[in-house]
Amino acid sequence: MKPVPSFSLCVYCGSRPGTDPAFADAARQVGDWIGRHGGQLVYGGGRNGLMGLVASATLSAGGRVVGVIPKALVEREWANQDCTELLVVDTMHERKREMAERADAFLALPGGIGTFEEFFEVWTWRQLGYHDKPVGLLNVNGYYDGLLQFLAQSVDRQFMGPWQMDLIVSGDAASELLPDLVQAGGVTAADRLDAV
Ligand code: AMP
Repeated sequence: MKPVPSFSLCVYCGSRPGTDPAFADAARQVGDWIGRHGGQLVYGGGRNGLMGLVASATLSAGGRVVGVIPKALVEREWANQDCTELLVVDTMHERKREMAERADAFLALPGGIGTFEEFFEVWTWRQLGYHDKPVGLLNVNGYYDGLLQFLAQSVDRQFMGPWQMDLIVSGDAASELLPDLVQAGGVTAADRLDAV
C-alpha cells in the first residue's frame, strides 16, 4: 500500500515561465521540498511554465501530484499525464473547489492573472471564515513587491484591516516559507519536517 502523504500543499503559479530564471528555480525548489518531505502537490494539472516545473520536481523527489484541470483546458494547458492523479473536471469552479478541498495550505508563486485570481480567492475565503488554511505568497526576486506595497497602502487608507494582511504569510525564500506554511496547516509531520 502507498504511504499517505504527510501534507497536501496547493500551489498556484504561472502557466508561463516568466523572464527570470529564479522563478523556475523557485518552482523546482518548492516541488523538490514537497517530494522530499513526503508531501502531496495539488495544482492546476498543466505541463506549461512554472506549473509543469513544480509538478515534475515533486514527482522526481518522490512526492504525489494531484492535477485538477477543466476539460476545456486539457489541450491548451497541455494536461500533465504524469500526475499521480489527474482530475479532468467540467468547470473552472469545480477545479478551484477540488483544489481548495484537497489542500492543507496554499502557496502562490510568481504568475499571471490566473495565479492572482486563485490567490485572492483563497485569501478572501479565509477572511470570511470559509476555511482556516494558511495562505502563502512566495515573493521570488521581488516579483510581488509592488503588490505588497499596494496592499499596505490599502491598509493605510483603511480599506483593509491589518488583521487581513496578517492572514497571508509572505517570504522570499522557499526553504523558510514552506515549513511555516505546512506546520501552520496543522500537519502532523513536524518531526519529518525537522529531520529532512
Ligand atoms: P496564469 O497565472 O495566468 O499563467 O494562470 C495560471 C493558472 O491559473 C492556469 O492554470 C489557468 O488556467 C488558471 N486560471 C486562469 N483563470 C482562472 C480563474 N478564473 N480561476 C482559477 N484559475 C484560473
